[in-house]
Amino acid sequence: MSDTGPAPTNWAGNIAFRADRLHRPASLDALRELVAGSRQVRVLGSGHSFNRIADTDGPDGTLLSLTALPPSVDVDTAARTVRVAGGVRYAELARRVHEQGLALPNMASLPHISVSGSVATGTHGSGNANRSLSAAVAAVDLVTADGATLTLRRGDDGFDGAVVSLGALGVVTALTLDLEPAFEVSQRVFTELPLPALDFDTFEAISSAAYSVSLFTDWRRPRFTQVWLKARHDGTPPVDFPWAAPASAPLHPVPGMPAENCTPQLGVPGPWHERLPHFRAEFTPSSGAELQSEYLLPRADAIAALHALDSAREAIAPVLQVCEVRTVAADSQWLSPAYGRDTVSFHFTWVPRTAEVLPVLALIEERLAGFGARPHWGKVFRVPPAELRAHYPRLGDFAALAGKLDPAGTFRNAFVRDVLDG
Ligand SMILES: Cc1cc2nc3c(=O)[nH]c(=O)nc-3n(C[C@H](O)[C@H](O)[C@H](O)COP(=O)(O)OP(=O)(O)OC[C@H]3O[C@@H](n4cnc5c(N)ncnc54)[C@H](O)[C@@H]3O)c2cc1C
Repeated sequence: MSDTGPAPTNWAGNIAFRADRLHRPASLDALRELVAGSRQVRVLGSGHSFNRIADTDGPDGTLLSLTALPPSVDVDTAARTVRVAGGVRYAELARRVHEQGLALPNMASLPHISVSGSVATGTHGSGNANRSLSAAVAAVDLVTADGATLTLRRGDDGFDGAVVSLGALGVVTALTLDLEPAFEVSQRVFTELPLPALDFDTFEAISSAAYSVSLFTDWRRPRFTQVWLKARHDGTPPVDFPWAAPASAPLHPVPGMPAENCTPQLGVPGPWHERLPHFRAEFTPSSGAELQSEYLLPRADAIAALHALDSAREAIAPVLQVCEVRTVAADSQWLSPAYGRDTVSFHFTWVPRTAEVLPVLALIEERLAGFGARPHWGKVFRVPPAELRAHYPRLGDFAALAGKLDPAGTFRNAFVRDVLDG
């Protein structure tokens, strides 16, 4: 059984998917039959990517969603793991995990996104010691192009290529994630941190001042408008933060947006899943009318990269809603933008006007070129495929894995072919 309807647009509305139908199989057998009978398959998660990564090449490609399959979330409290179905979003996963007294190590800025789609693009939160969300994945259950099922576990050959997969290996029907005991987090926001006050040691001190730290700027002036500190609440007093003034009321990072959309601030402790994301599950995250881009580069280059961006401030500011700087710990997943290096990420929430944003992206990419910047797989970028490939030393291994699991290229689309073949 499979219900179909017209293919939607992505969350931002800037991508109209090319497939003429969206298929929603209601059982694993229906999914396997649909995949085995299709020439091209792409899976749509919650559609929060800003480019054609999830798209089919044309109207006859099979675009499918897992939202009609049972949304199972099976927590194993003894093993401290959870097996979550391929269509489930973080908001639901986090709620169910927390009910069992357990936690995910980190979350992205919003809980609205699907777990499978997030880890497929290397989605991350922040924290010098926190790796990308994909690092919590211990096993991946796939339906491959011939309709067969396959489980890859951490330690298996190819596992490090199987999580940040760009959707190119098969349909992820479930993921097993590592958990830890539930913890509380308190969130404090500081305002007006001047960029000239930052040298490398100060940046390191600021980015390690809490479990997860985000710096926001509108690039209208060389300063951060807000710094968000998310501290694990273990009873010890909050660390001093001498570099900026504490906010006296809750704030939204995007100018003009209501703070009620955001998770509680002012140091009030609460459960991890109600503090680690910036945005509350029941409200629109971010600004809603936007495009996004993000570039990830070695954390050691944070200050040099900030000054490179500051030199492009006059071009960036007019099309920018907000820029967020975060840190991500190195991981070992072949296509993770944080692969092999402790990372600083520069995220841009743009106005929703592609034609005005693209030239600014070209400028940013030129300014960041010397730092080996890797673009976020799910956001808008212009980096040419040959340059992308140069930034991923294990790309050849990923191409070999994709060739082995999907020899006919059923799960490849134009986006994936660009990355793999140029
Ligand atoms: C408001 C907003 C805030 C964001 N904040 C952050 C942030 O804090 N950090 C960050 O790193 N990113 C962030 N992002 C980007 C977002 O996390 C990524 O775009 C992510 O991929 C979204 O997940 P999705 O399920 O919507 O993926 P989709 O866009 O639906 O799909 C992404 C990829 O995953 C594949 N895929 C999805 N499900 C499956 C499956 N079951 N099997 C196989 N392949 C699958 C798709 O084919 C596609 O290749 C944000 C985006 C928005 C809109």
